[in-house]
Amino acid sequence: MEKVDFSFVIPCYCSDALVGDVLNEITAVLREKNEYQYEIIAVNDASPDQVLDVLKERAKINKNIKILDLAKNCGKHAALMAGYRYSRGDIIISLDDDGQCPLEHLWDLIEPLENGYDISIAKYPVKKQSAFKNFGSHMNNLMACALLKKPKDLQISNFSAMKRFICLEILNYQNPYPYIDGLFLRSTGKIANVLMEERERAVGTSGYTFWKSLSLWLNGFTAFSVRPLRVATALGGIISAFGFLFGIWVVVSKLLHPEIMAGYSSLMAVLLFVGGMIMILLGLIGEYIGRIYICLNNSPQYVIRERTNFDL
Ligand code: UDP
Ligand code: MG
Repeated sequence: MEKVDFSFVIPCYCSDALVGDVLNEITAVLREKNEYQYEIIAVNDASPDQVLDVLKERAKINKNIKILDLAKNCGKHAALMAGYRYSRGDIIISLDDDGQCPLEHLWDLIEPLENGYDISIAKYPVKKQSAFKNFGSHMNNLMACALLKKPKDLQISNFSAMKRFICLEILNYQNPYPYIDGLFLRSTGKIANVLMEERERAVGTSGYTFWKSLSLWLNGFTAFSVRPLRVATALGGIISAFGFLFGIWVVVSKLLHPEIMAGYSSLMAVLLFVGGMIMILLGLIGEYIGRIYICLNNSPQYVIRERTNFDL
């Protein structure tokens, strides 16, 4: 297998109007420094638009552009995993297909890797996305800090570069539901953030719907952390201790004042509360068990229908 200096991995979904410009930009930036060998791996995540045709046209002209065509929509993170698996670069760069990643800062992004860091990620002071997506990102960030032990000021964004050994480590994760942020965080402590400004999306809207974002979020914590189960255990302990004390209090007050009514309504309230908690916690446990089942089942992360310009 012949190695190259840079592998660019681009998950593509609904971007037939944009991805061509991204490809142009990559080649233009690389032309500034002629000495580098590169490949661009575009992963078509079963996009419903014409993006595959656009990519194929480009791959005919430039053999460094390679295409993985996924058989069904597997999501951005699985698409990235597919691209990583076929990459041959010493440095692997991940970016989006919609032109939001500021490629003019490519060399700034790569610099920390020459200075001892293993992963380098763009940090955007302002995110160019809807209020709803901002809320989602915020929740995601809180989750990553609390459950995946992400340092507070580290931002994980759509534009990153990593060394080959990190990529190989990430590829050791064979289970379904890959979550790149979690895989970055568990691979190394040497992650750099490089400040730059994200661009606006020129055409179209985010391919991430509410449900896709929610499922990614759920995935993030259930696939990479068992802390929620521990919180559940602690919560169960606290609630049952409270119920026990409350029971004693009811018995004692009935003994002391036989004339009072043993509160039927307070009983109902406690019953509903505890019942609800049990349902939620059972659901959470069910989610974990479901995931164990799916992993045992060998569900694939992605299925590749066709490869273009790969010689392996
Ligand atoms: N993406 C994907 N599969 C999907 C949805 C999105 O591969 O089902 C890719 C998309 O091609 C892009 C990246 O994920 O490269 C980010 O998508 P988008 O720009 O829609 O989301 P946002 O920028 O709002 O996070
Ligand atoms: Mg985008």
